[in-house]
Amino acid sequence: MNADPSAKATRKAVGIDLGTTFCAVAHIDAYGKPQIIPNAESERITPSVILFDGTSAIVGTMAKQNAVAEPEKIVDFVKREMGKNKAQFHREFNTKHYSAEELSALIIKKLKNDAEKYLGEPVTDAVITVPAYFNDAERTATLHAGQLAGLNVLNVINEPTSAALAYGLDKLDSNQTVFVFDLGGGTFDVTIMKIENNHIRMMASNGDHRLGGKDWDDVIVNWVAEEFDKAHGENPLLDLQSYQDLYNRALTAKIQLSSRMRTTIVHSYAGKSVKLELTREDLEHRCRHLLEKCKTICEIVMQEAGLGWDQVDRILLTGGMSRMPSVREMIGGMTSVPIADDVSPDEAVAIGAAVQAVLSLLGEEDDSGERVLSQEVRDQFSAQDGSLIQVTNITTHTLGVVLWDDSKVEEYVFPMIRKMTPVPAGMKNSFGTAKANMKNAIVRVVEGESTVPGECTPLGICDIELPPFLPKGSPVELTYTYNENQVLEVIVDAYGRTNRVQIARNTGLSEAEIETATADLLQINVV
Ligand code: AMP
Repeated sequence: MNADPSAKATRKAVGIDLGTTFCAVAHIDAYGKPQIIPNAESERITPSVILFDGTSAIVGTMAKQNAVAEPEKIVDFVKREMGKNKAQFHREFNTKHYSAEELSALIIKKLKNDAEKYLGEPVTDAVITVPAYFNDAERTATLHAGQLAGLNVLNVINEPTSAALAYGLDKLDSNQTVFVFDLGGGTFDVTIMKIENNHIRMMASNGDHRLGGKDWDDVIVNWVAEEFDKAHGENPLLDLQSYQDLYNRALTAKIQLSSRMRTTIVHSYAGKSVKLELTREDLEHRCRHLLEKCKTICEIVMQEAGLGWDQVDRILLTGGMSRMPSVREMIGGMTSVPIADDVSPDEAVAIGAAVQAVLSLLGEEDDSGERVLSQEVRDQFSAQDGSLIQVTNITTHTLGVVLWDDSKVEEYVFPMIRKMTPVPAGMKNSFGTAKANMKNAIVRVVEGESTVPGECTPLGICDIELPPFLPKGSPVELTYTYNENQVLEVIVDAYGRTNRVQIARNTGLSEAEIETATADLLQINVV
């Protein structure tokens, strides 16, 4: 059957929570209500695990279950590698090297395929969430992963903003300050959000990239391995299969201890075994340093926001690890602010992303005048005056420029757009040339909180040629603009010459590589 060329292409957008250990997908139904989309296995969350099996990539629970039998064919915790180029991280299967964004694309493809089966229509667009403190390279890698999976990525948004959107959807008229505590499988993120007058605004954010459930699992794994070594004089972690098996047992024990006071871990390796009892108290004691880290970050973010706990109305818990009783106890010890119980820690982020996806489509409708979504949907996301819900994020890293300090005879970083500035953000400043007769003004753009260039991440360069014989201190004008998708544009202006550069992140994939990678990934059967 030939497609009707005059038929209007329909769009279906979903929200994707691309987690370190689990993913979730949500959409807004025809009545404007957010719903989680179950995967082909009828699960509401999908493990972020890939098993390479011949020319197929199996994603989810089946891959996770096979991790012990075939650990060398498994990829997990890819999110921790996002933003690295292929030289820094890749996994090899069937002689092909896969980057972190290609691996993430396989996971997204599974989510997309399953969502299409469930909804009975093609999924064209998505909003994908990232931890608030993800830097530009990590955000761009996430955007690319969605594109590689064949999606039009409407936005890459912050997980806590997303959780606040899910929570705040029916409270937009209220005036609330919400503290989002997100402890996932591999990352920790704390954000303060304000909900008022149809507007959700991010006030402060901080986090630890490498703090999450896996650290608790590692504590258990290492303890069992030590006990095994004491009993049998052998290290069970040297064998990949034994490690994977022990890792799964540790994870199960940790989850069991959220609802039980004690559990038993049995581990066998090389014909020998240990049987150990682990109590909740013991686990909490061994992992106290991890919760202390979480607490410190909570305190830092409160300081950064300039708030006291009496100014916070609700605490939102997201991320599977926040189900641990010790997390609630730690928070209870810090503040008496009530914990909101009307959001599911596993689902809030995906639901918020679905809300953002519809907001983005409604925004596009308003710009183009073309209506794709129903009035019922529009009504759900509008204030009484018809205006759409507004979401404002802030920058989570300082964007600076490297300058020369004549008095100290050294380079330093001047902050152009400071951390916690609402986006979109812009800043214009004029600087003097460092020497007489400079041929070029070279602007080195960096990201980070330090004034020492070597301690910041280089993002790129924007330069212009200068006219000859300029004295030292001749003015060069510099403009930084940072848009809602957190893409930075740098403009250098001097003596009628202008150079404008969109700072391309060091994600390792060029436009051409994206095209090739998309074609390559199409060859892989994702199930
Ligand atoms: P997320 O990345 O948000 O999906 O969080 C997943 C993490 O939460 C993993 O480390 C899980 O082991 C952990 N997790 C999930 N459920 C529980 C639970 N009931 N108790 C403790 N940890 C859990």
